[in-house]
Amino acid sequence: MNFRTLDQIDPDAKRVLVRVDFNVPMEHGAVSDDTRLRAAASTINLLREKGAKVILLAHFDRPHGKRVPSMSLEPLAEPLSRLLRTPVAFADDCIGASAERAVSEMARGEVLLLENLRFHPGEEANDPLFAKALAMNGDIFVNDAFSAAHRAHASTEGIAHLLPAYAGEAMRREVGALDVVLGNPRRPVLGIVGGSKISTKLSILRHLIARLDKLAIGGGMANTFLFAQGWEVAASYCEKNLSDAARQLIGMAEDERCELLLPVDIVVAERAAAGVAARTRGLGEVDEGERILDAGPETVARLTSAMDQVETLVWNGPLGVFETPPFDRGTTAAARHAAALVRAGKLIAVAGGGDTVAALNRAGVAQDFTFVSTAGGAFLEWLEGRSLPGLAVLQA
Ligand code: ADP
Ligand code: MG
Repeated sequence: MNFRTLDQIDPDAKRVLVRVDFNVPMEHGAVSDDTRLRAAASTINLLREKGAKVILLAHFDRPHGKRVPSMSLEPLAEPLSRLLRTPVAFADDCIGASAERAVSEMARGEVLLLENLRFHPGEEANDPLFAKALAMNGDIFVNDAFSAAHRAHASTEGIAHLLPAYAGEAMRREVGALDVVLGNPRRPVLGIVGGSKISTKLSILRHLIARLDKLAIGGGMANTFLFAQGWEVAASYCEKNLSDAARQLIGMAEDERCELLLPVDIVVAERAAAGVAARTRGLGEVDEGERILDAGPETVARLTSAMDQVETLVWNGPLGVFETPPFDRGTTAAARHAAALVRAGKLIAVAGGGDTVAALNRAGVAQDFTFVSTAGGAFLEWLEGRSLPGLAVLQA
């Protein structure tokens, strides 16, 4: 992946529009987790040091093209200013007179945050007129929001056709990390795909089978594979209508010489609730009314020994219903093993996906992984091998 980066520009005294991901968690009108603000700091600081006027473009939540006061970005200006140790001005619209005035008052090295892009329907519609109105306030465009790169919106795609466009530092880091596992990885490469549904991850499974040396299937979707092979799954979550798809994937893995690791034992219970009796069973040993809720210890042992044999790991989707102990055991054990290998310099491990990140945090190992993507949808589309419109326009 070759795109234009910040080392190729001299932004001195230029108005630089930077698309950031400020879709942060908020509680009672205040930022409750500033990870995303911190992620944007390197690009902002770099541009400021070079004398740029840094104008931040961001969306927050889903106001659906209308001004929704509770979805204003204004509460972010103060925490951002503390983080950057410099005042952050705020304009109550991202286009039009108030934005123009605020930009015209900027000096070199100053930072301005513009109001929520999605207050205008033109943002998500990628309306050329709206893109033009945004572009009017800048000389250069920088996209630092990988998490929004799978959407062709005015602030991610449209605007990049109107101004010289570059990838920011966070974008460069994230795409670089993903490229390490799927672009030109150190082999062998092991994938883990888990989670609930096979239906939402069919394209990921196909793409990974074609590229990886080994692929472990876990979580609810493993039940569909087991069912497709004739095993009893009783009341388990299972997409029975996708049995054919599961069998096709098994055939595809044979053709592509990708070793599939399916469960060899299971953890069952009546339901996923705290305090229920969990039992480890062999395949098919599920009584009426029981559900498969986690990978069994033998399955986890085979998975960790596969980790020992590979150079690279890419992981999306928990192995069990990790939100409800003890059904987090399989995921936690696998995550800790991977983390120990990374710490020992024996494995490159990249993971992503909303629930996967939560599971790694719960296991206490997210910081040990080589890279953990919090990009959600964009990460999943990347795993599908799709071209992301917000990235394609930055291509050199
Ligand atoms: P991510 O957000 O990381 O992409 P998913 O959303 O695909 O992951 O899957 C996470 C969900 O899968 C979790 O809510 C988890 O409880 C569920 N899950 C995992 N294993 C099972 C299972 N055996 N039965 C039902 N749900 C499962
Ligand atoms: Mg999820």
